[in-house]
Amino acid sequence: PQILALRFSHFSTAAQPSSSKRKTLRVPNFIGGTFVDSQSSTAIDVINPATQEVVSQVPLTTNEEFKAAVSAAKQAFPSWRSTPVTARQRIMFKLQELIRRDIDKLAMNITTEQGKTLKDAHGDVFRGLEVVEHACGMATLQMGEYVPNVSNGIDTYSIREPLGVCAGICPFNFPAMIPLWMFPLAVTCGNTFVLKPSEKDPGASIMLAELAMEAGLPNGVLNIVHGTNDVVNAICDDDNIRAISFVGSNIAGMHIYARASAKGKRVQSNMGAKNHAIVLPDANMDAALNALVAAGFGAAGQRCMALSTVVFVGDSQPWENKLVERAKALKVNAGTVPDADLGPVISKQVPGYEQGNFIGPTILSGVTADMECYKEEIFGPVLLCMKADSFEEAIDIVNRNKYGNGAAIFTTSGAAARKFQTEIEAGQVGINVPIPVPLPFFSFTGSKASFAGDLNFYGKAGVNFFTQIKTITQQWKDLAAGSGVSLAMPTSQ
Ligand code: NAD
Repeated sequence: PQILALRFSHFSTAAQPSSSKRKTLRVPNFIGGTFVDSQSSTAIDVINPATQEVVSQVPLTTNEEFKAAVSAAKQAFPSWRSTPVTARQRIMFKLQELIRRDIDKLAMNITTEQGKTLKDAHGDVFRGLEVVEHACGMATLQMGEYVPNVSNGIDTYSIREPLGVCAGICPFNFPAMIPLWMFPLAVTCGNTFVLKPSEKDPGASIMLAELAMEAGLPNGVLNIVHGTNDVVNAICDDDNIRAISFVGSNIAGMHIYARASAKGKRVQSNMGAKNHAIVLPDANMDAALNALVAAGFGAAGQRCMALSTVVFVGDSQPWENKLVERAKALKVNAGTVPDADLGPVISKQVPGYEQGNFIGPTILSGVTADMECYKEEIFGPVLLCMKADSFEEAIDIVNRNKYGNGAAIFTTSGAAARKFQTEIEAGQVGINVPIPVPLPFFSFTGSKASFAGDLNFYGKAGVNFFTQIKTITQQWKDLAAGSGVSLAMPTSQ
């Protein structure tokens, strides 16, 4: 199979317990700078969703191995935190160069394990690469503040120090971008890291770890452990871990948020979504339809910023007819087929169609807020169409939804766009932009039920998440004259 041609120099082979005696690649853990095969007897198949072939097996890391990973991260911390920020940045400079060099291999691995088209997989890597580029400016990002002479002879300054061992828990839908949202910023701030990739597509994380080593990241600064609920719970409970970045579903995210916060950890938890587009009658029809089709069905709808609901203001019929026409023209195929528009969805848990993960673009019209398809996150190539008699009613529909990841408006009216921007209750707003995922100098600012925590991913907020402020007040003055003792609370003089 194709995967063997990829770069997994550290994968080991294990005889499958089946009678076929086929050798299957086992995905290694990465502990203290070494790729190691887990001793666990339990493993999960990683399946190519376009073919059902077993690509590799991902082990359920044992507790001892997990402890070893945390311990490696803990040991690496003192010397890594005292490594000059310029040296840490240089490793990121090198890492971004290596990711560019291997982007095709990374994309092929993503398509093989996750299913999205190769072009889309390139985008997955590229959006993560941009965070690595951003981390190259850490000296400026992590800069503290200084106020001289807050009182006579006294200055105050603050510095942002790394926290220690941090951890990341990833979803299946962006196997490169989301690990890259997490560890580059964390380690360039001076932290060490334990990453738990999605058990459905762990390959890209391993390739990124290989590249990080090649870039010069010291042993133990980045570690990877595989598994599911048990290793995640171990991450939440471990007293040596100071902060957790999570991206995934609400069930897992709220569990992790509650369990890890109760242990006093910082948690940033990016979760599910139901992103709406409002289409006003004055919108440019061609551009808006293209945007709806691309954002509704791209990546087979498996993006947390996919547009899954469109609210047409006024007569929706002409819009819906054209939407169906354009959706029909999309090609559903394996992600490796050059003209595929959308690939398979990740799992085959559809009763009656157990062997195929392919779902064509699906449009549901006449949807109302009380319907199950509206209340739940579908996370597939399904676009719901709703109607509103007025712009105000459309805004009200969006605001009543519990999620707040993103919302978009399509209009040619600046006044309407401004009203939307002000009144809409969603963390990331697109004005004639269907998937408004901010670049890394801003932050990924999902809100309401799409996010738990305080400090968002990447950008300034991301640096704040991975650092602790220390504020220093210093006095350097000639004390020869002496000022006597005063037991009163010091005030500025
Ligand atoms: P998931 O929650 O099933 O899995 C995410 C991670 O959590 C995995 O590593 C998994 O092993 C772990 N996990 C799952 N259930 C757990 C449990 N009960 N206890 C402990 N750990 C558990 O999510 P997924 O299906 O991989 O990803 C899709 C979801 O991620 C969607 O809801 C999507 O909206 C969301 N997502 C959100 C964003 C965002 O930025 N808001 C980005 C991408 C994906």
